[in-house]
Amino acid sequence: MSNLYIIATPIGNLGDITYRAVETLKKCDIIACEDTRTSSVLLKHYQIEKPTISFHQHNEHNKVEHLMNLLDGGQNVGIISDAGMPGISDPGFLAARAAHQKGHTVTPIPGPDAATTAVVASGLPCDRFVFEGFLPPKKGRQTRIQAIAESEITSVIYVSPHKIIRFLEKLHQFCGDERWVCIARELTKKFEEIDRAQLADITQRWKARKSVKGEIVVIVSGKNYTE
Ligand code: SAM
Repeated sequence: MSNLYIIATPIGNLGDITYRAVETLKKCDIIACEDTRTSSVLLKHYQIEKPTISFHQHNEHNKVEHLMNLLDGGQNVGIISDAGMPGISDPGFLAARAAHQKGHTVTPIPGPDAATTAVVASGLPCDRFVFEGFLPPKKGRQTRIQAIAESEITSVIYVSPHKIIRFLEKLHQFCGDERWVCIARELTKKFEEIDRAQLADITQRWKARKSVKGEIVVIVSGKNYTE
């Protein structure tokens, strides 16, 4: 039986890779990358010279079969995404499930992900939280925002920069002025920003910005949280 390694990579700062991740990447026979060009920067930086194949959300279903053939043929395969933990709002789950079903060993190599990095920095309760990932763009979006508004525990949401203002406005509409929110932008990168305030204030502040760029995680406190 072969090994499928699910390997976390940095969410920005190249220094945030683990020793074990580098060692594992060096011993894989082949590395399945969400984007081979993006990952080539990381692989080059750590002098990892291994064959790569692309494995992204648009070819994930077809490529899983190919990955299983490689594992069946005795090759050890590593999966990495552009950033963070594969499978977390990224391809990974289908390959892990298929590898289990075929009796291969699935070995996680832990490391950074944007959700837990943001929630621990938010200063909002992180003993329990719900990971929402990206909300659907249209159908079902409002229902999910309502559920976040009703949640007793902290919610963690991935939001693209061009949707942040509309998202904050909707959240404000459902959660009211006083709900605590933290916006974590560009974590581990040069322009890292962790902005924490109540919804009325933070919405107003972010609406006043000329433009918003970069990668963003929004943390929303549970509905009964006060400080
Ligand atoms: N697999 C990744 C993980 O483990 O977090 C998530 C990949 S998902 C395609 C990309 C989203 O994750 C971004 O739109 C943003 O919401 C969040 N993200 C990734 N890197 C980030 C960073 N450095 N700072 C803030 N958010 C980040």
